[in-house]
Amino acid sequence: MQRFKEGEAGIALNANVFFNPKMKQLRDVSSLLLQATGANGMRGIDCTAATGVRGIRYIKEAGLKDVVFLDVKKEAVDLIARNLKANRTNGTVINQPFQHFANTCKDRFDVIDIDPFGTPAGFVYDAMRISRDGTILMATATDTAVLCGARKQACMKNYWAEPMHNELCHEAGLRILLNYIARNAAEFDFGIEPMLSVADMHYMRAVVRLRNGASVASESLRNSGIAQSCAKCHNFDYAYGNLSHFGEECSFCRSKMVLSGPMWMGKLNDKELVKRMIVMGDGRLERHSLKLLSAIYNEVETPFFYSIPKITRYLGVPSVPLSNVIDNLEKNFKTSRTCFDDSSIKTMAGITDVIQAIKKA
Ligand SMILES: [Zn+2]
Repeated sequence: MQRFKEGEAGIALNANVFFNPKMKQLRDVSSLLLQATGANGMRGIDCTAATGVRGIRYIKEAGLKDVVFLDVKKEAVDLIARNLKANRTNGTVINQPFQHFANTCKDRFDVIDIDPFGTPAGFVYDAMRISRDGTILMATATDTAVLCGARKQACMKNYWAEPMHNELCHEAGLRILLNYIARNAAEFDFGIEPMLSVADMHYMRAVVRLRNGASVASESLRNSGIAQSCAKCHNFDYAYGNLSHFGEECSFCRSKMVLSGPMWMGKLNDKELVKRMIVMGDGRLERHSLKLLSAIYNEVETPFFYSIPKITRYLGVPSVPLSNVIDNLEKNFKTSRTCFDDSSIKTMAGITDVIQAIKKA
């Protein structure tokens, strides 16, 4: 039997049980997030446990206890039991679909990890049944083509939202996922506080803290909004609830704008937490993950961004150094690079000022 070492866990593999070594970075970051939030002693559940690697790492590295490992495959359940024993860790292994478990279980969990094959949409509603005030809900989506607008109908079906299919699509996809979580949470009187939102490689990952209360849930939904984007000049706009200022035309080039959403327009990250993770992760996380966390930390907190190469192409002017554009804008507007794209900027400025800054760069 093949063995694999990841973090503090030693894992036996089975050809019939799914294991993706490329997701190590995601598991590193998730484990670190739990350590940085002080999850020691918290009760966790891995809704699609497969080899059990994630839950075992959470126990050994972040101190979670009484972790429940669920999987629908008998082979997976046997493998998890074996891996728990080999790692000298304790947990409850159950051969059940998550939905069935959540509908019959009377317990509440502090940490719920949803990392299925494809969309987490079918798990989120039932996750609320086993949540309490303060629960950390982690949801991974690998159906990024759907969330990025390559399959619009599937996005409508799974997430009740119209996706974007342009340079903003990864951020829009994350915001659609968050809005979907917030919408489901509200039905159970939970509001959400995003802790970490990541779009990387072929996945999107939203980590939120649930807060209980009817008014908290309503307040949370105020972050729900609609966006519109211009395919010609790369302008965009967004609004919370009230769409009265939305015209059909782009305010800059007068082309027809494309509507998308609903999406979460509030904050994507808890910057203080991200800062702690960067400090704790130095020397422990892979460079790629540290770079990603730093980009998230340094980013201006505003929905969407401007692609400088796309705008210069639209203007028909030569390409310009990104740092010059940022310097020009920073005199009057909060501006930064963005974790979503190396050649784009987030700024409080509108497209007219961005174009001015490009022309002066
Ligand atoms: Zn336009």
